[in-house]
Amino acid sequence: MQIPLLEQDVPADPAGLRPEPRAGYQGQAGSFGFRAASRFGRPEAFPTFEKLLRALVAAEVEAAVLPAVNRVAGPILEPLDALARIVGANGHGAPLAVTAELAVPVRLVLAARPGVRREEIREVLSQPPALRQCRSLLEELDATPIETHDTAYAAYRVAELGGPRAAVSSEEAALEAGLVLLDEDVSDLKPNFTRFWRLARVEGDGRTLDVVPDAAFAVGLAEAGSPAPPRVVYFVGAQAMAALSKAKAELLSLPGVPEAPVRGFAVVPPAGLGALSGWKPADGERMLWLGAPPERKTPPRVKELPKVTAVREATAVRVGPFEVGGGKRAVIAGPCAVESPEQVERLARAVARAGATALRGGVFKPRTSPYAFQGHGLAALEWLRAAGDAVGLPIVTEVMAPAQVGPVAERAQVLQIGARNCQNYDLLKEAGGSGRPVLLKRGFGTTVEEWLSAAEYLLDAGCDEVLLCERGIRTFEKATRGTLDLGGLLAARSMTHLPLLADPSHAAGRRDLVPGLARAAWGAGVDGLIVEVHDAPESALSDGPQALLPEDLEALLDEFGLLPGRSGSIERVRRAIDAADGEITRAVARRLALCRRVADVKRRNGQPIRDEAREATVRRRYVDALRPEAAHEPTAAHLADALIALGLEAEGWAAEAP
Ligand code: PEP
Ligand code: MN
Repeated sequence: MQIPLLEQDVPADPAGLRPEPRAGYQGQAGSFGFRAASRFGRPEAFPTFEKLLRALVAAEVEAAVLPAVNRVAGPILEPLDALARIVGANGHGAPLAVTAELAVPVRLVLAARPGVRREEIREVLSQPPALRQCRSLLEELDATPIETHDTAYAAYRVAELGGPRAAVSSEEAALEAGLVLLDEDVSDLKPNFTRFWRLARVEGDGRTLDVVPDAAFAVGLAEAGSPAPPRVVYFVGAQAMAALSKAKAELLSLPGVPEAPVRGFAVVPPAGLGALSGWKPADGERMLWLGAPPERKTPPRVKELPKVTAVREATAVRVGPFEVGGGKRAVIAGPCAVESPEQVERLARAVARAGATALRGGVFKPRTSPYAFQGHGLAALEWLRAAGDAVGLPIVTEVMAPAQVGPVAERAQVLQIGARNCQNYDLLKEAGGSGRPVLLKRGFGTTVEEWLSAAEYLLDAGCDEVLLCERGIRTFEKATRGTLDLGGLLAARSMTHLPLLADPSHAAGRRDLVPGLARAAWGAGVDGLIVEVHDAPESALSDGPQALLPEDLEALLDEFGLLPGRSGSIERVRRAIDAADGEITRAVARRLALCRRVADVKRRNGQPIRDEAREATVRRRYVDALRPEAAHEPTAAHLADALIALGLEAEGWAAEAP
């Protein structure tokens, strides 16, 4: 990612890390464009799309957002036309690139000056595309649409003019202008949204100048992997359009001009790229990519680490019931060391009951002292595998030497490379070629980049299911065994597609700190955890002081919303249900507090407390959200009704009823 030098007048972001990019939009504060621009930097308003795009070309802003397609109204002609003029003027390629697409929910309201009734409305002011999105409302009101250049401006204008007029705008813009809402969510199709394109300048060689840090997209552990920018083409000519439509591209056609009868933009799906590769332009025909042409592979985030930092969708690793990465989260648990067949079988049952989906246990133990317990070796691997099989969980175990890889990979479904061996390159090569997924711990003295380089060895040896695990690094701090480096973990998230795990046990070294560190890592968005558990920690052969008791693990996994294993007793599952009920009641209490607050605002604005259209939206949301759980629709609606009734009570609605 290249971050350009910005002029002195651009203020640094609050954290002082890097200057905040300027993101231009057309319209004024409160508009949907403003909202889209805020996602990419400091919003800067422009009166017209032309001026906005010219400012981008002149490097007065680092990005520009343009509304491209609306779900109801389709292609939005005004901005696309402005873009076509800029792109079309350049014969050799587009000077601009579409670097991201963002869908912004569009909830349009009908608003008027206080005291004006809905039946009195004769004129409705708004931007043309917004007017096209609520045709049924206009018909129903039998009002004349009046075009303004911006939705937020429409609201101000109505506030200024008064009379039998209303504006269609965002709720914020309407309230900001001092209007009251006559109707909410008035689009013909719901939910309505507009897809905005983020545009950036292109450097001389046609490569996208990625001036806007991809923070909103790539970073944040929950949103693993960054979506690829949309592949947008500007086309001119009937044959170009035919080729694009054969490639199943989404066509955003623009009204023609005499010398170029057919033109527009197209969003090409990856599957359609092949269909376009042989296309040759005829006279006057054109197809220009807005951004890197698709045959150019997106470079990795770190040049020297092409596999581990490749820009691609998040890697998901799946071994039976154990699934991590790409949105799936899981916990591996078990003893530090496999001590006996009975011990590991008991603990396998305990961790499965808690909700862990993989069983850990060391059979070769890397110990600081050569006189400490070294592990029971391959015999213990048999016990571990039998215990895993008994409860249906795959096993994870450490290999310390290349010679151990073959025999261990025969039995263990996942190999672990421990912190001490993070940079043991012969071991990495051997484990990477074993055909098994590998969990790679970060060495306690390795940087994030060195850790990723170690993973590159695994990927290069043919293993594409690599799990990265932060387990505490060595710092000056002695209160804990290691320092769990969540910052490093988040930094790794922005660099790699691989699943990221945290090991709170080895980081803490003390049982009492493990749940807190586990929560911190889970809250930071790790894909998974690996946790040590023992039912008799005082007599454990290794790492007893940091082992959680099985019941501690249960409580923690209930908190994380993982499901207890199928072997759990009724009591065990009921404890998980009690935890879910606790969450639900807390959420309901919060909902009621919000209802009270919205009622205060409505009273201040002189609006009625009850809003049946909004209630219908809420009811639909519950029915839709619960449908995958096969909930009976009327039952889901009853649940919504009960919440709405509680809300009305909290808002004091009953009191104002006649
Ligand atoms: C382990 O997981 O038991 C272990 C030895 O971990 P680490 O390599 O992180 O110290
Ligand atoms: Mn251990």
